[in-house]
Amino acid sequence: MTDIYDDLKIDKDIVALVNKAEFDVKNELNKIDACEYVNSLKVLKAFHQNNLSENHLNGTTGYGYSDSGREVIEKIYCDIFGAEDALVRNQFVSGTHALTVALFALLRPNDTLLSISGTPYDTLKSVIGIDENASSLKSYGVKYEQIDLIDNEFDLDKIKETLLTKKIKVIEIQRSKGYSTRKTISIEQIKKVIDFIRKFDEKVIVMVDNCYCEFVETTSPLEVGADLIVGSLIKNLGAGIARNGAYICGKKELVELCGERLTCPGQGKEVGASLECNREFLEGLYFAPHVVASSVKTAILTSKVLEDLGYSVEPRYNEKRSDIVELIKFGNEQDLISYTRGVQMGSPVDAKALPVPADMPGYDHKIIMASGSFVQGSSIEFSCDAPLKEPFIAYQQGSLSYQYGKIGLMKAVQNLRDKK
Ligand SMILES: *Cc1c(COP(=O)(O)O)cnc(C)c1O
Repeated sequence: MTDIYDDLKIDKDIVALVNKAEFDVKNELNKIDACEYVNSLKVLKAFHQNNLSENHLNGTTGYGYSDSGREVIEKIYCDIFGAEDALVRNQFVSGTHALTVALFALLRPNDTLLSISGTPYDTLKSVIGIDENASSLKSYGVKYEQIDLIDNEFDLDKIKETLLTKKIKVIEIQRSKGYSTRKTISIEQIKKVIDFIRKFDEKVIVMVDNCYCEFVETTSPLEVGADLIVGSLIKNLGAGIARNGAYICGKKELVELCGERLTCPGQGKEVGASLECNREFLEGLYFAPHVVASSVKTAILTSKVLEDLGYSVEPRYNEKRSDIVELIKFGNEQDLISYTRGVQMGSPVDAKALPVPADMPGYDHKIIMASGSFVQGSSIEFSCDAPLKEPFIAYQQGSLSYQYGKIGLMKAVQNLRDKK
């Protein structure tokens, strides 16, 4: 074993440090297995209930009429997440695209969108019109209101006041933190706030940005009252197997509107060739409970190791988790860059590439990204990204297996020490 660590250029004391941390978090890691098991039961049950068969693994071409594989996949998603209807499509270019389709599908001129979880994900700023854009919702006359979280909790007083004084069409809740320092919003918090919202407004559409949260808990936002959930397939549910795509699940009439916006009015969900995607969407979903659990375990170990090294982390190793992201506050640019480069060195693909901070479309600051993944930009794979701004926080997520996550973490910590 010593030789192979030498070959991997990992110092023995770093191996010892990570092994010690792993020993310390054993109980936490075991808890994740229980969640993986429940989600695996759900997936297999849905496969069986919908009689998944070999012919569903093949796709269609051209218009994509009568795509039985695509239809079964969407029924399986409905069963797992408690939805009436679903769009699970390779025509979504990203999670942002699926969120954009949903927002444009639900909102009309003079309608108001309300975010109750503070500033939305960076790439949505141009979509909403917070950042000026000639094609934003704002450019079509859609209004936007925002209520910030207070100490990681929903501001119930402001929500009540807004619902009683203004006509709101859609409420958006973003669960994961994006590039902020707040905590991730749990299912329990979602349930409480939706119950509260329904006291004042029965009809307002509650849409949840569910990115990074799928299968981290065992309940979906739809099961606690949300109307629509949206997420990316190069995150949790694609398990690193899906090569692109995203999903929208929820109320039938809302998903239908999304279908008409994704393709065209009059054709909606009935078209869209799945090409070669059905097999990988299904296999990805099948592996997703395990890959998400591997990612969460990698995050727990990362949290303990970096805390032992004196950095502040969120969540801490023994805190409840609702997404796969680990936030590490480095406090200085050098450590942030070295660690991120170390994540790249611990990745399977392009391990020798040197990440450099760069401008990215849709983001405000320069960003440094480590992603030596099989699927471009896939963040269910071991990856790390960070905006270059105070207090120099890295957002690490993913790992297709816990073992690779552990080894990748050792490489990252090694490079943090080597300051390369
Ligand atoms: C990843 C993510 C998105 C969508 O991002 P894409 O990179 O466009 O897939 C949206 N919201 C949150 C919270 C995310 O983590």
